[in-house]
Amino acid sequence: MVVGGGEVAARKVALLQKAGAKVTVVSPELGVSLATGVKAGEITHIPAQFQPEHMGDYALVIAATDDAGVNEAVAAAAKAKNIPVNVVDTPHLCTFIVPSIVDRSPVVVAVSTGGDSPVLARLIRAKIETLVPASYGRLAAMMAKFRDKVKARFDSVNARRKFWEKVLQGPIAEKVFAGQDQAAEADMEAELAQGSAATDSKMGEVYLVGGGPGDPDLLTFRALRLMQQADVVVHDRLVSPEVLDLVRRDAERIYAGKERNNHAIPQEEINHLLVRLAKEGHRVCRLKGGDPFIFGRGGEEIELLMQEGVPFQVVPGITAASGCASYAGIPLTHRDYSQSVSFVTGHLKDGTVNLNWEGLVQPRQTIVIYMGLVAIEPLCRELINHGVSPEMPIALVQQGTTQHQRVYEGTLATMPGVVKNQDIKAPTLIIVGEVVRLRSKLNWFQPTD
Ligand code: SAH
Repeated sequence: MVVGGGEVAARKVALLQKAGAKVTVVSPELGVSLATGVKAGEITHIPAQFQPEHMGDYALVIAATDDAGVNEAVAAAAKAKNIPVNVVDTPHLCTFIVPSIVDRSPVVVAVSTGGDSPVLARLIRAKIETLVPASYGRLAAMMAKFRDKVKARFDSVNARRKFWEKVLQGPIAEKVFAGQDQAAEADMEAELAQGSAATDSKMGEVYLVGGGPGDPDLLTFRALRLMQQADVVVHDRLVSPEVLDLVRRDAERIYAGKERNNHAIPQEEINHLLVRLAKEGHRVCRLKGGDPFIFGRGGEEIELLMQEGVPFQVVPGITAASGCASYAGIPLTHRDYSQSVSFVTGHLKDGTVNLNWEGLVQPRQTIVIYMGLVAIEPLCRELINHGVSPEMPIALVQQGTTQHQRVYEGTLATMPGVVKNQDIKAPTLIIVGEVVRLRSKLNWFQPTD
């Protein structure tokens, strides 16, 4: 039974229902969400002020009214019948407390301060939320399916524990996290069929991780978790030092380079390096700037992994276009100015830029150019030659989303000159389109450097 009809009561009711409880609400009036639940027949409603005779044989009672007198009466009536009672925000009237929970059912983590500071409990909970992947629930559910089989397969408790530890910390769990549940189940069956010998298999795995454009806060939870789990990290120049700082301290770091015309390790060799490291049994994090599948050659790297039977997963990252545009106050699309956006590479081949100019110069389209700094002059010239106004606004974002971010604005006519007169540092992203004008109104990010 929950006494009270407002928002606090509604939140308690929702949690109780999620745990499978049948709930009766006592309150003369109901807020919208509770009223909806009553209408749908999911909640029983007693439309009255609480009276001691309402105290039936409930399993739990929660008082969530803003009337201290009513709350006290509820607590007294419950205690008289030995029913556990919780009065929201009033620890001394409670016979039990409701912890803050991280719900990965069937896995549940509860955080309690014994009622001293629910806000602190919530903050701690938020931290744990970021540490425990959402897929732990699915992982636990899958392990439940295999419990009996594992028991039958290994007769000592020790052998079983070892087996589970291996499964939960290895590629099988990783597959569940990556949404490859069927593959994970097949692996479990194979492990069980082959026994412990197979669980000692030396094959490692590769995580192809998008590290985002620079600001470490823009990493995904999954990226961070895998960065902390890998024993070897192969990174390139675009990965910011702040992001690199977040890989496991004792992980081996291999710099794979990639400066323009100065590839520290040729792509072919990187592909083979990843295969070799994984085959040696390492958990390898291939950490790339931005998103691995946007001008990141991620496709080539996993193609070889696929061929060689190396388990891998791909973690998307925030690509430079999204990061730089947001942090420069330039929406890439806008109802009034731009209905589409194209991501293109300005990389020069034999000194010229080969792009589908007709397709690019459509009206109301934003163009984002990666790797375009060196070719800025031919880029601007070709756009004008293909009919774009020389007055079209263009922005160049240097080291976007980092504390060194700088944005240079101009027009197609002026930008080559702007670039010539500045000491521009890589990486830079170019944005062309009417949307660039919005920056004068929408710029919010203030880098400290
Ligand atoms: N996979 C990456 C892009 C790699 S290509 C991604 O999704 O972002 C390299 C180009 O990305 C650079 O030449 C530059 O144009 C752009 N770039 C990447 N990070 C950037 C940043 N922080 N600021 C500006 N441009 C960036």
